[in-house]
Amino acid sequence: MKILLATQKPFAAAAVAGIREIVEGAGHELVALEKYPEQADLVAAVADVDAMIIRSDKVTAEVLDAAKQLKIVVRAGAGYDNVDLAAATAHGVVVMNTPGQNSNAVAELAIAMMIFMARTQFTPATGTEIQGKTVGIQAFGNVGRLVGQKAAALGMKVKAIDPFLPAEKIVEGGAEPAKDLEDLYATCDYISVHIPATPETIGSIGYDLITKMPQGATLVNTARKEVIDEAGLEKALEARPDLKYVTDVMPDNYAVLQEKFGLRVFATPKKMGAQSKEANVNAGLAAARQIAGYFETGCTRFQVNK
Ligand code: NAD
Repeated sequence: MKILLATQKPFAAAAVAGIREIVEGAGHELVALEKYPEQADLVAAVADVDAMIIRSDKVTAEVLDAAKQLKIVVRAGAGYDNVDLAAATAHGVVVMNTPGQNSNAVAELAIAMMIFMARTQFTPATGTEIQGKTVGIQAFGNVGRLVGQKAAALGMKVKAIDPFLPAEKIVEGGAEPAKDLEDLYATCDYISVHIPATPETIGSIGYDLITKMPQGATLVNTARKEVIDEAGLEKALEARPDLKYVTDVMPDNYAVLQEKFGLRVFATPKKMGAQSKEANVNAGLAAARQIAGYFETGCTRFQVNK
């Protein structure tokens, strides 16, 4: 089988070498398309491939139409909103992600962001400590759970909510279940957002929720920019000069937010949550193994378009 590694933002060389070893070791061919300047390059590269490993690369209906032999796409990472799932399903293409492989990197960043904002973006102003404060984890998946564990180790109280997990699972994961989302926002000094971007979650965090947060609270978003209602966020920061927002997914209105709110807002210049050497290698190798496994045994354990 011919497997395309399509990475506009390439993996580190060690990860590519590991991917190649797994793919070739399983008797397949690996071709790489890295740092491609145009989406048209991706469309042109997929004509005769049987499988694809991607990162934030956009697998659109146009890509799927052009990929006549394609059987499987694996997104090396957690979020898969860059793949047109309906089109993939219509083409009979299996789509998988590699859950958990980059979670630690993202969780460490979320904790770092809390401390960065507590200490006024590392300026000499007197800041606060996170020990003794309460963090609310919105969605207790792979990343959320790890943020909870790390926060607890730093002396924080941890609350969480996840509509797809019973309260016992949240307790087992070391957090106190919040009554509902409003309760989480109203009772936590930090909210760490870990919901996926779906039709239900897009724009779901806005003025009403944000202004429920207690005095001096900080909203931390390492999930997706789309889950925030940006106009609502701006209005909330205006109405509540004590609130802060820090994110790994830069809002479209960031320039305005910076101008209006200065050190109360911060966005990383480019999404970097999963950008650790370890996460790169883990996610890339997992994607290669999942493709080899799919062709060998038909395993669809991590399929997201079932
Ligand atoms: P995950 O799939 O392990 O966990 C997601 C959790 O969200 C699950 O527990 C699920 O029950 C819950 N959920 C699903 N639909 C929901 C809904 N409609 N409302 C509320 N909760 C819902 O994913 P993860 O690995 O923990 O990652 C979380 C998100 O973080 C990803 O979806 C991705 O968008 C983002 N992410 C960002 C980076 C980065 O570089 N900043 C890296 C990895 C992941």
